[in-house]
Amino acid sequence: MPRVLISGISGQDGSYLAESLVHEGCEVHGLVRRTSLEVPHVKLTRISPFLDKLTLHPCSLESQTALFEVVREIKPDFLYHLGAQSFVSYEIEQEYATLDTNLGSTHALLSAVMRFAPECRFYFAASSEIFGHAETSPQNESTPFNPRSIYGISKLAGFHICKSFRENEGVFACSGILYNHESPRRGKEYVTRKIISQAVAIHRGQSDVIKLGNLDSERDWGHAKDYVNAMRKITEFDKPDDFVVASGRTHTVREFCQKAFSLLDLTFEDFFEYDPRFFRPTEKTTLCGDASKAKKELGWSPSHDLDSIIEEMMNSELERTASLSN
Ligand code: GDP
Repeated sequence: MPRVLISGISGQDGSYLAESLVHEGCEVHGLVRRTSLEVPHVKLTRISPFLDKLTLHPCSLESQTALFEVVREIKPDFLYHLGAQSFVSYEIEQEYATLDTNLGSTHALLSAVMRFAPECRFYFAASSEIFGHAETSPQNESTPFNPRSIYGISKLAGFHICKSFRENEGVFACSGILYNHESPRRGKEYVTRKIISQAVAIHRGQSDVIKLGNLDSERDWGHAKDYVNAMRKITEFDKPDDFVVASGRTHTVREFCQKAFSLLDLTFEDFFEYDPRFFRPTEKTTLCGDASKAKKELGWSPSHDLDSIIEEMMNSELERTASLSN
């Protein structure tokens, strides 16, 4: 059975990926922060149901020596590099930390693979943010990159590092350019989970307001499970390559809210309050992905639409909070 190493295993995507691999009997290793191991009931909740089937390694993405060491020890058949510093801020130190961690970890893992596990298939989690202020829509693998955030720039550099190891060193290195993907495991800082949890709080009488920024913002939203499935198809393909993974449809934040609230027989507009703290003045373009290449070459297509994603997130939130509200 294949030996798989996942950075970012405790996140939304890492947990779905690990779950599917464990289910198939793979030997699954994950990188986690040492501090997460000290409080697993707080930091490792997404992987707690199958924690006993995983081997976790305390290893920070900031430590290139530690990353090198882990790859040397495990010699994985597949390595999914999903972990990244995603904090988007305008403070210089934070921006530099994002660049440093994201570039350094990708470079260290690929160098280690080249040296200690040359047959390993390497996946890099790129992001639609590498298109940034794209001039055309929808975007595909040939669309010029135009990132406008430090996070997007770090992901674009990672994408190119991957490509250079593939073309210059012969490493089986691929990138998935993933658009927004949601699920009940999404963090509360993202707008979809925030809307769902606030709607449930209002439904339970624990709150009477939902404060948001720009309701006209649009996103190309898919389901994390479908996107993790695409990651696996990318690494199992005949040759290493890069793929856009997206639903190809955009919806506004307002539409998401209306759909979510109506599931609870509530009218969103009765509770909405605009809060300028959540407005992003530099956000200009709407990104929409064209996943025809993944469809054609990998046979990938999403199995969830936005309605089914919202319904699943809502049911899960109602279940999760039921015991707390009694
Ligand atoms: P992102 O695509 O990684 O930025 O994902 P988010 O879920 O954080 O944001 C999705 C969209 O929702 C963006 O266009 C935001 O401007 C918009 N948005 C509107 N109000 C809010 C809010 O209160 N919180 C967040 N996170 N986003 C908001």
